[in-house]
Amino acid sequence: MAYTWEPKWEVFEVDLEGIKFKTCRDRITGLIACPVCIHAASKCLGEKPPFNYVYENAYFYTVEDLLEHMKGYHLLGLKKRTAKLAEKLREED
Ligand SMILES: [Zn+2]
Repeated sequence: MAYTWEPKWEVFEVDLEGIKFKTCRDRITGLIACPVCIHAASKCLGEKPPFNYVYENAYFYTVEDLLEHMKGYHLLGLKKRTAKLAEKLREED
């Protein structure tokens, strides 16, 4: 992947085993982007870019790879955050 790669995003709908969501796919390479990492809502779904968003680059060749990434990377992070929050709430009791 060249450093100067400029994705041409199009809307791509994931529909696999009951999991349905929209994200962006590059028209040229066919790479599917992680909707969380690139903030798909503003990249290709017509919404305004959020303020202070930490963008990351995460692109995948298959929907399966994307879902693995989301499960491992985002759900794990979410679990850690909720565990921390639960701990904090206990301390405040
Ligand atoms: Zn991601």
